[in-house]
Amino acid sequence: MRKYVVMGVQGSGKGTQATLLCKEYDLVHINVGDIFRWHVQNHTKLGAQVRRTMATGELIGDDQVESVVKERLHQHDWNYGFVIDGFPRNGRQAEFFLESFDIDGVIHLDLPDEEVHRRVLNRRLCSRCGMDYNLIADRPEVEGKCDVCGGELVTRADDTPEALSARLREYHTKTKPVLDIFRRKEYVVSVDARPDVDTVQHDIRQKLGL
Ligand SMILES: [Zn+2]
Repeated sequence: MRKYVVMGVQGSGKGTQATLLCKEYDLVHINVGDIFRWHVQNHTKLGAQVRRTMATGELIGDDQVESVVKERLHQHDWNYGFVIDGFPRNGRQAEFFLESFDIDGVIHLDLPDEEVHRRVLNRRLCSRCGMDYNLIADRPEVEGKCDVCGGELVTRADDTPEALSARLREYHTKTKPVLDIFRRKEYVVSVDARPDVDTVQHDIRQKLGL
């Protein structure tokens, strides 16, 4: 049984790395953000609560997040283990997690803020079909146009340097206590997220002793 938590700032390749690890070792990728989105889209009771919370501009409460994680892990559809992504987001959630479940490691994808800026500010989105592009790694064939549908490529409204700096500050403030709690238990492996996808994946496996 292998039970991991993956942590990293946006643009660090967290989702990609978790997916690769799950594929190789038959683990279940548990993305907490996706679970909430599913509830909202399918109009469940929880989805309605989440919608109300977000409408007031507040964050989803720790209790709600914890019960979603608990419920998800109690489904026990993970025969070989899981990689949890998007949780815990603060110190309290980390304490709850450690009291309720045992884990084997925390993968911390480390990416300097200036590299996050470079990656995120080069993201483009097709205004017609929603396809993602990246002007560094994934350039469209024709500048400013979607390869798939020819739609215009735009920047996300919240991908401005100021908004990104604010998100990074919040991320560091909330994540540091989480990492400190996990480090006390010697669970954390830090991996440099700057190299290409395969190199990062290789480093993760090596550091976890896989
Ligand atoms: Zn398109």
